[in-house]
Amino acid sequence: MKTISNKKDLSYPVQYVKGIGPRRAQALAEQGVETVHDLLYYFPFDYIDLSKVEKIGNLERFADSDKWITTIGTVRSLDLIGRFPRQRFVITLGDETGIIKLIFFQSVNFFKKAFTEGELLAASGKITSFNDSPQMVHPSIDRLSDDEGTAAEPVGFLHTKGIVPKYGSSASLKDVNLNVKGFRRIIHSALNEYLDLIPEILPPDVLLSHRFLPIKDAIQNIHFPQSEEKLNEARKRLKFDEFFALQLMLAIHRTHVKVDSPGIAFEIKSNLARKTVDSLPFKLTKAQQRVVKEITADMASQRPMSRLLQGDVGSGKTIVSLLAMLVSVDNGYQAAFMAPTEILAEQHFRTLQSLLKDSSVNIQLLIGGQRSRLRKDTLEFIEQGKANIIVGTHALIQQGVKFSNLGLVIIDEQHRFGVAQRVSLRQKGIESQNGIRHPDILIMTATPIPRTLSLTVYGDLDVSVIDEMPASRRQIKTLMRTESEMATVYSFVHDQVKQGRQVYIVYPLVEESEKLDLKAATDSYERLKSELFTDLRVGLLHGKMKSALKDEVMQSFKEGEIDILVATTVVEVGIDVPNASVMIIEHVERYGLAQLHQLRGRVGRGTDQSYCLMIAPDWMKKNFKSKFNLPVIDGEADDRGKVVRRIETMLNTTDGFKIAEIDLELRGPGDFFGTRQSGMPLLRLANILIDHEILSLARTEAFRIVEDDPHLRKSEHQSVRNFFKERLNAKYKYLFGG
Ligand code: ADP
Ligand code: MG
Repeated sequence: MKTISNKKDLSYPVQYVKGIGPRRAQALAEQGVETVHDLLYYFPFDYIDLSKVEKIGNLERFADSDKWITTIGTVRSLDLIGRFPRQRFVITLGDETGIIKLIFFQSVNFFKKAFTEGELLAASGKITSFNDSPQMVHPSIDRLSDDEGTAAEPVGFLHTKGIVPKYGSSASLKDVNLNVKGFRRIIHSALNEYLDLIPEILPPDVLLSHRFLPIKDAIQNIHFPQSEEKLNEARKRLKFDEFFALQLMLAIHRTHVKVDSPGIAFEIKSNLARKTVDSLPFKLTKAQQRVVKEITADMASQRPMSRLLQGDVGSGKTIVSLLAMLVSVDNGYQAAFMAPTEILAEQHFRTLQSLLKDSSVNIQLLIGGQRSRLRKDTLEFIEQGKANIIVGTHALIQQGVKFSNLGLVIIDEQHRFGVAQRVSLRQKGIESQNGIRHPDILIMTATPIPRTLSLTVYGDLDVSVIDEMPASRRQIKTLMRTESEMATVYSFVHDQVKQGRQVYIVYPLVEESEKLDLKAATDSYERLKSELFTDLRVGLLHGKMKSALKDEVMQSFKEGEIDILVATTVVEVGIDVPNASVMIIEHVERYGLAQLHQLRGRVGRGTDQSYCLMIAPDWMKKNFKSKFNLPVIDGEADDRGKVVRRIETMLNTTDGFKIAEIDLELRGPGDFFGTRQSGMPLLRLANILIDHEILSLARTEAFRIVEDDPHLRKSEHQSVRNFFKERLNAKYKYLFGG
């Protein structure tokens, strides 16, 4: 139990705010509101504007004007009209100037019980005219009478004056009467008692030059706005604060790495790299050449590299990273390559081995599923510096792995890893050199990151982009087929194999239904093998197989000894088999957009025409015939709408950038990059998709401040420093030395 001093402060438990008490505190805690600070930062999700209320007699004027109007009146009558299923519920609302009818076609039974005659309501909505009298259909309603019956204040206080806040309320909050109005009351008393204690975070010059509201005004006005203008100013100020916190973290992270700790100044001339380029069966694209230059220039400098290499699936990132690793090896440093799955690590390991077979470079593989003898030897090789390039999974960052002198870290398919892994690998590198130098880091991702988002999540990184595909590629043909059309799909597969192509058939695998999914994949493997494709060679690959077996299957597929590979989503990222030209995705409705794009990226890697066939449930067909005009199906409309949108996107474009933008829109920013788990401060008001301007403002200011004062030691930055230490993830505290 926290002891409470007499002096009030913002970390005071919320229970002691007037009107809260233990039961309400409990319910609030479930919503993450534990301290007074949390409560003051529990912002309204919406407002009703009662400052511009129209008298009912005036409403006729607004009929069919498309304007959103609010009016207040008492309930004159409540009527159920018509018969099921045409039933509707009508509230007649009146004031001294007239009456209006509020019509509800849905939730009739709920409304029937919800209201009583004589109570005071505010209704907001668009006005329509019916038989020459005004009505509102499905308006939003606010009850203005005190529903607890024990009014501690005159009815209308807080609830009918000016712009009135609405707070999100869960079932357990409602249980303790923290409904919309209960919330207004406790926020009101919290503001009365504690508003003065909220510290100003922004330095005076920032406040001044952007004319931001001071923090106290902003908090007051986000809850109980004096006017619409004030509300907008408050929102702007608080959004800025959210982005500022984020950017400050990134700025400090970056500056700390760049300024305080020297990196390795690699000599770029590398015989190994030159020879490897010469031995390739293809020429590097212009884009590859450009990014190789950017990366090596960065490696040559004394500052540690933190660089993101972005390039759509199949754009050829691996070879670029290999060249960077060879520079490191030629300089006498180890290079580590971390892949997101064992299969991918094995594949990269083999690719490197074959590319470097005539050199003396020692390459080791470190993954979880290895036998302990082998693992012990590998670890020794790494520690003694006999290993030059170490390819692995996250096994690389586990305890017991000691590098001898790690100079370069490559992280493949970053979206599978969090910020934490990035930090750990860098840490390993520093330890390996007795804390002397930071290794360079190159992060690779096939997920093109919309610019706004990359500023947010990767704001501490420099970026290189491969924006060109190898010229030999052909556009992949993407088609949708439904489950009842499988016969045609299978005969297509047969044809393609007869022409010498190879095929993936992929089944979804999600954690929640892992067992069922695995069974579906194995069952269909059995069926395909013994019933449908008896004359073809069918293989099975899933994540639960032993490492050695996985490797064996993957190798056979690569060498053309398997025609059809039935797999779970383990093949999603990175797998590279140029002769495979058909990708069949079963249960397309179960994948996210980024995943679908990744899966499709497994084909189209060679010179043959490639195909991606998405198998959808039969209901989908209807939607596509009707030009995506979705029927509204209760509860499912939204999900189905998203499914259709994803498939539609896949059919219409292969542009990874467009796909990422739509994916971001469908999933929301929180999900997109797992920012939630990555220790990033929360964005409550700010939306990275909409508030670009404020974001770049915050970014400019944060980076300017940190550049000028990297450890925030100046007196005008004291408040920023305190804020940082108190509010941000503990992980970053080390940046300040306590
Ligand atoms: P990704 O960027 O998705 O990781 P990879 O590095 O796996 O792509 O490359 C995809 C395929 O393209 C590989 O088979 C690779 O050998 C080949 N490749 C890479 N660069 C070129 C190029 N410049 N011309 C032709 N093929 C290339
Ligand atoms: Mg790759």
